[in-house]
Amino acid sequence: MALENITVDAVSAALGEFDALGREAFLDKYRFGPARSYFLVHEGRQYDSKAIVGAAHGYATGEPLAPAQFSGGEATVARRLRALGFTVASTKRLDWDWQEVVLACALVYANGWRELRTADPRVQELSQVLRGLPVHPMAERPANFRSPDAVSRKTSDLATAHPDYPGKRTRGGKTDEQVIAQFLANPTHMLDVAAALRGGLEEGQFDEIVEARVGSVDDPESEEGGLLMRLHAMRERDPKLRDAKVERARQSGRGLGCEVCGFDFAATYGARGSGYVECHHVVPLHVTGRRKVRLEDLVLICANCHRMIHMGPWLRPEKLRELLLGS
Ligand SMILES: [Zn+2]
Ligand SMILES: [Zn+2]
Repeated sequence: MALENITVDAVSAALGEFDALGREAFLDKYRFGPARSYFLVHEGRQYDSKAIVGAAHGYATGEPLAPAQFSGGEATVARRLRALGFTVASTKRLDWDWQEVVLACALVYANGWRELRTADPRVQELSQVLRGLPVHPMAERPANFRSPDAVSRKTSDLATAHPDYPGKRTRGGKTDEQVIAQFLANPTHMLDVAAALRGGLEEGQFDEIVEARVGSVDDPESEEGGLLMRLHAMRERDPKLRDAKVERARQSGRGLGCEVCGFDFAATYGARGSGYVECHHVVPLHVTGRRKVRLEDLVLICANCHRMIHMGPWLRPEKLRELLLGS
């Protein structure tokens, strides 16, 4: 790949030429259009990242790259420049994730479904919270990511999208409508989810979760959203808890059969399945809060039943068993 030829020195030389010529002449010389989304940021100045890379290729190999010879963006230009130690900022708009909208909607709900202004301390605080959540990769965030202005605009979107709002809607997305419907259907639950997200952030529980991105490991539509779902999965996979639960099951003589359907990995798969079973924590994190996981709250469960419990709104194991018996 041609971009691998580019070195730190070559990029520095291209930056120097950009400074000497000025932006317009530099872009003209190398026949690049102005960048729309990705800028190399160096000593407080912004440079069109793709044009810099095209020019840098010339410094490194004697032949500059023309715009049509390579594509710009996150996976190519931005990645290569970052690998060389440069800072690349994106001005791409990052859509609000479900979890972010839940936090904003909790504010609007508490404010009687009215928007909140930029100067409102609650907006300022939420801006900080949203910047702390590992939902969008740091590297892709523009400088004004989830600024108080942006948060205030989102509260307007939510307030005006409420079904009882008499005036005209501001721009909002599908996720806004989905979250509003969820708040109207079950405000207590949604406030609990918002509180759990804030609690998880405060206690540093998300620190191990790097760049969660939208959705979750198991199920993008899961009741708790990506971050809390990941915490749930992490807790369930905690080997100490799991081993203690397995040990207790063995001592009680009931073995490692699934507590919902009875499936036993060892019985079906022989030695390969011996000792295997999954652990499900029946109390969602937004309910337990900071309480420690108790063995009584864990059930041993097969992979199929576990997946079914997390599909859509969570089912209690006994409800899943009813489904199973009814079929
Ligand atoms: Zn099962
Ligand atoms: Zn689970």
